[in-house]
Amino acid sequence: MKTIRKIAEIIEPQYVIEGAGVLLQRSFSPKVSNLFDPFLLFDHFAFNDPIEGPIRGFPTHPHRGIETVTYMLEGQVRHRDSLGNQGEVGPGAVQWMTSGRGILHEEMPRRGPNGVIYGFQLWVNLPSDKKMSQPRYQEMSDNTIPSVEKDGVTVRVVAGEYDGVSGPATEIAAQPIYMDVRVEAGHEFEMDIPRGHTALAYVFEGEGFFDNGEPGEGEHVPAVRMVKFADGDSIKVRAAEGQYIRFMLIAGEPFGEPIAPYGPFVMNTQEEIRQALTDLRNGTFVS
Ligand code: FE
Repeated sequence: MKTIRKIAEIIEPQYVIEGAGVLLQRSFSPKVSNLFDPFLLFDHFAFNDPIEGPIRGFPTHPHRGIETVTYMLEGQVRHRDSLGNQGEVGPGAVQWMTSGRGILHEEMPRRGPNGVIYGFQLWVNLPSDKKMSQPRYQEMSDNTIPSVEKDGVTVRVVAGEYDGVSGPATEIAAQPIYMDVRVEAGHEFEMDIPRGHTALAYVFEGEGFFDNGEPGEGEHVPAVRMVKFADGDSIKVRAAEGQYIRFMLIAGEPFGEPIAPYGPFVMNTQEEIRQALTDLRNGTFVS
């Protein structure tokens, strides 16, 4: 018999300032406790006030040992790195960046026509045998991300499979599911997630109900909240009557390895962090 995953935890994202004065709502960030293994960080860029002033973004910084996944809904992030890659992540697009052994890049958010920057950055861990791999980019434009519309549910599939449709992000160590899910008022979304995999839902618009193990309609969750699911076979989310719900569904296989986080590096040991700092100092970080 199939077990519906219950809510394990509901996190209210906290405002933080990163880079050169970029205001973010952060759900979690890298900690030795690694509670969201294989995920390390989830940030929400939301500049909704056009008179907030200039946005300076994230000047040149390194990454090693992780993947950063940028998904934009409004506005764009201009990107440029030490290997000569550059581009723009615009509305509806995703950049899945596998830093591997190292990149140095800058990320500069820009407002859309309505003065808004709206998007997410997820950090996915790499297992020890891939932390020093070659850097790799997967760029997905708005029209290369498939959308499945069925029974009042619309799913944009970035990674993983929904209703026989696979997302364009491939060969990711964590075997992730990353989807933008919208459930219309009065409808329900259910999806199998492999048992043992970490599963999260970042509710960013509307509100809905999640299974909490109690009889009745379930737990009411409004935007903006990060929901962590307990283990089980599937997740089920129901939109309230008269109100839709939209969330990023995030799931993946935990690596179960020790982690040593240090700013934009996440390695397995302190020795590897020291090596990363030495490589930066010696100019041998990027090769
Ligand atoms: Fe970065």
